[in-house]
Amino acid sequence: MKRNFKWIAYAVVAVMVTIGCSSVAFTGRKRVLLYSDSQISSLSDQSYQEFMTKAKLSTNKQMQAAVQEVGRKMTVALEKYLTSVGATHYLQGLKWDFQLVQSEEVNAFCLPNGKIVFYEGIMKFTNTPDYIAVVMGHEIAHAVAQHGNERMSQQNLMSMAGSLLSSVAGRKSDTTQALFEIAFGLGGQLGVVLPYSRKHEYEADRIGLIIMAIAGYDVDKAPIFWQAMSAKGGPTIPEFLSTHPSDENRIKKIIEAIPDAKAYIGK
Ligand SMILES: [Zn+2]
Repeated sequence: MKRNFKWIAYAVVAVMVTIGCSSVAFTGRKRVLLYSDSQISSLSDQSYQEFMTKAKLSTNKQMQAAVQEVGRKMTVALEKYLTSVGATHYLQGLKWDFQLVQSEEVNAFCLPNGKIVFYEGIMKFTNTPDYIAVVMGHEIAHAVAQHGNERMSQQNLMSMAGSLLSSVAGRKSDTTQALFEIAFGLGGQLGVVLPYSRKHEYEADRIGLIIMAIAGYDVDKAPIFWQAMSAKGGPTIPEFLSTHPSDENRIKKIIEAIPDAKAYIGK
């Protein structure tokens, strides 16, 4: 009986993986997404609303305007490009919004629905539009690459595999809501988005550079930004660095990706 259950469950997982298989914008990497864009989007909306009721918007109008201008310029260029290549499906569930909140934390995040938040603390490193575009491009990339959906899908598959291995038939799998809250529950005042995997970070760097190039920003500023961030590491590691480890390998990969990104200039 247990044996049968196991094989049926394996078959269910295999079918889900097959149905959910698709590829990432720009990189073409194959991945499995088990959730619909609208599911991810409505969970993100709830989380964002909760965060914004607790957060205080920056009173620095100039900085707020700079973040919003770069965000708008990049997403307009991205949408125009994806439309021109017939790939608007990557934009489903994305309703862009760009905010700057009061906090000395060196941080920024993007929810899977396209809501991007910069913390005032990171503006010390992003004092020109090109540097804002480095962080913005990376955050937009996480959303357009659907990394949130992929991470939740992986956790779901892992929890299914885990319950299969222990053959505990009665164990309930985590609900979608719970999985989302683990990944994007912006619980505290400052909000905590779980770090992405190295693979997702590198991919967001690569796609972020492409979005910078499409929108006309200077991609050569990206390694300079990450070097400045890593020089600030040490005893008081900024929040953004703790979730975005800026080691030599990362900077090397960014430099390697620059020529590919430059091919998108003017597209
Ligand atoms: Zn990231």
